[in-house]
Amino acid sequence: MSAKLYKNLIGGQWVPSRTGKTFLNINPADHSDIVGEFQSSAAEDVSDAVDAAREAFKTWRLVPAPKRAEILYRTGELLLQRKEQYAQEMTREMGKVLKETRGDVQEAVDTAFYMAGEGRRLFGQTTPSELPNKFAMSVRLPVGVIGMIAPWNFPMAIPSWKLFPALVCGNTCVIKPAEDTPLSTYNLVQTLMDAGLPPGVVNIVTGFGPDAGAPLVSHRDVRAVSFTGSSEVGRIIGQTAAANFKPCSLEMGGKNAMIVLEDANLDLALEGALWGAFGTTGQRCTATSRIIVHKSVAEKFIAKLVERASALKVGNGLDESVEMGPQVNQQQIETSMRYCEIAQHEGAKLVCGGSVLEDGTFDQGTFFEPTVFAGVKPEMRIAREEVFGPVVSVLECDSFEHAIEIANSIDYGLSTALYSRDVNRAFQAMRDLEAGITYINAPTIGAEVHLPFGGVKHTGNGHREGGTGALDFYTTWKSVYVDYSDR
Ligand code: GLU
Repeated sequence: MSAKLYKNLIGGQWVPSRTGKTFLNINPADHSDIVGEFQSSAAEDVSDAVDAAREAFKTWRLVPAPKRAEILYRTGELLLQRKEQYAQEMTREMGKVLKETRGDVQEAVDTAFYMAGEGRRLFGQTTPSELPNKFAMSVRLPVGVIGMIAPWNFPMAIPSWKLFPALVCGNTCVIKPAEDTPLSTYNLVQTLMDAGLPPGVVNIVTGFGPDAGAPLVSHRDVRAVSFTGSSEVGRIIGQTAAANFKPCSLEMGGKNAMIVLEDANLDLALEGALWGAFGTTGQRCTATSRIIVHKSVAEKFIAKLVERASALKVGNGLDESVEMGPQVNQQQIETSMRYCEIAQHEGAKLVCGGSVLEDGTFDQGTFFEPTVFAGVKPEMRIAREEVFGPVVSVLECDSFEHAIEIANSIDYGLSTALYSRDVNRAFQAMRDLEAGITYINAPTIGAEVHLPFGGVKHTGNGHREGGTGALDFYTTWKSVYVDYSDR
């Protein structure tokens, strides 16, 4: 069966890449299921898309923000109607289970409604002038054409975090979806167009990072870049953007710690650990990848975690009874394998999983067992480097202070969690954990769209997605002085 062919979206037209090349998008749970054929674009396609976005900017920036917001509101309503279809297609293209892909579409709905509300705010400031008969204020203006490079793990939610605030602020966009998940971006942008978005305001160019992503970042007329992905790629993007004095929002990796103290509700912590570590097959930048547990409860906690993790039902996410889907591609499987070898070599104890699943129903996909390492020490690579797979490390601590020290001892700083009934420790953790997000008695995952999302240290470069933080990135301040002395 031949796959459906998708073209780039440039200036409201569906056009093939000038390279004449395409690539296939394949279901990671079932390699016989080809989800679609997409354009393998290069610099000339990016250039066409940026030209279209520049042209559209001339009129889009003048549409009143509350009117731009109405399109977002309608987009949210349409996404709700289409949720089941889009969730099914997302599960087919990246593997996570239906419950999670429904949640992913819902996150785009929530972002649409939240950002639609921002269209009626977009507050500036008025301040008293130093001079008589003078009015002083600052207003938010759009930045221009924004280049967006999106990841595959939240194929609709994360593009919506980028597109919706950018649009409500009056910018136009060129988005390059991840090559593993272009279809969800098509579904999102098609919905925006059905809701009334004018041609050229959002353009899609599909393809691979070096061919299509790099020219987008360096294009002279792209005024800002928003990237979510690995720290390795983020470093290159950040350097290119900095060399051109271009604002650049980088959301990158995590090695997120969950601290379980001796007074924690262990059942609650166990539930949090299980879904924090193995939800989305561990392929979240917020995944719980380090569990720092007090030594007095460690043995009991590890035994229960192993029991639950090894009982998880792994399989094709389209089956409602499946609890953990495949990894997105073979490269991710190889990374999980490599880190399992490194961990054992370093002396960590493999207590659950650790292997590729390839027999019987698994032979058509890229599946990895839920994996737990115990006896992990803070200096080991398995405790410091991001795996982005279903692999969690358990470390032991002597005290609350020791747990905080271990949690902060790495380069990343995205999400953290503390399980304890002690309210003083909860507030201390909130203050002292070096991370953009801290949960108390909840896992490291599940960020809500109205709060700023992002991290510190090697996780990000200070910008935030979601909440009002996003508006700061997608607008530029203009200070205006009005002299009304009429002299
Ligand atoms: N939605 C995710 C969460 O908070 C964040 C995005 C990510 O992990 O990539 O769980």
